[in-house]
Amino acid sequence: MISKKMLITRDTFDQLILPVYKPASFIPVKGKGSRIWDQQGKEYIDFSGGIAVTSLGHCHSLLNKKLNNQSKILWHISNVFTNEPALRLAEKLVSSSFASRVFFANSGAEANEAAFKLARYYSSKIYSINKNKIISFHNSFHGRTFFTVSVGGQSKYSNNFGPKPSGIIHALFNDINSVKKIINNDTCAIVVEPIQGEGGVIPANVSFIKKLRELCDQYNALLIFDEIQTGIGRTGKLFAYEYYDVNPDILTLAKSLGGGFPISAMLTTNKIASVMRPGIHGTTYGGNPLACAVAESVIDIINTEKILLGVEKKSKIIIRELNIINKRFKFFTEIRGKGLLIGVVLKPSISDKINKILNFSFLEGVIFLSAGHDVIRLAPSLIIKKCDIIEGMKRFYHALEKCLS
Ligand SMILES: *Cc1c(COP(=O)(O)O)cnc(C)c1O
Repeated sequence: MISKKMLITRDTFDQLILPVYKPASFIPVKGKGSRIWDQQGKEYIDFSGGIAVTSLGHCHSLLNKKLNNQSKILWHISNVFTNEPALRLAEKLVSSSFASRVFFANSGAEANEAAFKLARYYSSKIYSINKNKIISFHNSFHGRTFFTVSVGGQSKYSNNFGPKPSGIIHALFNDINSVKKIINNDTCAIVVEPIQGEGGVIPANVSFIKKLRELCDQYNALLIFDEIQTGIGRTGKLFAYEYYDVNPDILTLAKSLGGGFPISAMLTTNKIASVMRPGIHGTTYGGNPLACAVAESVIDIINTEKILLGVEKKSKIIIRELNIINKRFKFFTEIRGKGLLIGVVLKPSISDKINKILNFSFLEGVIFLSAGHDVIRLAPSLIIKKCDIIEGMKRFYHALEKCLS
């Protein structure tokens, strides 16, 4: 038996939690802005943002207020009813995007699951039951439910779970010819991340996205943008698709949307939504008033010129600092991404040391993520302070110095 007064340590994780993660050796207990503190009171500067989630930093005062207020009014009501925060949030998403319809869910995978089901349902109703093939890309990531992980282009995540859903084909990212070779009248959708996030922070080329749109139009297939990582200001625009001058038919959001409160959304057009009927798809928690109230505030704060231009400015400062660091160490071959989704590519001779670099950074009090096998990923708060950036980069410098010796 574990007593009530049990001492919680990292060992407790190893005893009690399904071992599908390997968390850091320290346990964060408190966060404010871009800083977090562990059990021992050690302070860290957070460039991971809870994996591109805490878009307004930790415990933002306006989000705290919104959550507290809503918690006194209505927590949960289910989709047997609708609720005011969900409707207000839907209005905000629709008025600031290509979309006219919203479906709320709780995680990225669930939003993508809804997107893929919608694409297949729409195509089977409007065209033919055979029009169900989904084209996705190698190295892509779309979540961990069995459908979404199978659509994702990293088989290491989908193998050994029995028969996979069929009708999914993977093409090469940023290679339009590889798509042309496999697209046909049975294709119901192409799904793409405007910037492959987990795969290594790899931006899609503008011409590639434009040609995907053309191919989708030519074959009556739907274009799905997975903006779970890039959406809600992360790239310096509210949606990354705005950089491409191309509208998707379906778009999914999660991570930044709730600023740390679990929520996701699938956006689409009236035309595509029109095939749906009550009962065809659903979720118990989707549109939860607490989550929607917080997300409303997240959008109100982020969807302003000040914050979005600030993302660009902060991005420039970080990239400048990273370049200065690289003058000394010459560890990075490329710094890529958009806005505050930044990937630092390690040169091949040190790419196997990525975990060592992350761990030394923890020791110095600065937190980064990895992406792919050789990329250090930065996805900090969109309002990270300049002084936190400078101090964080100083700590990174010291970490790399210790890594060398
Ligand atoms: C994180 C992520 C997902 C999965 O989101 P979950 O909330 O973990 O289910 C899907 N697609 C992309 C692009 C992501 O970055």
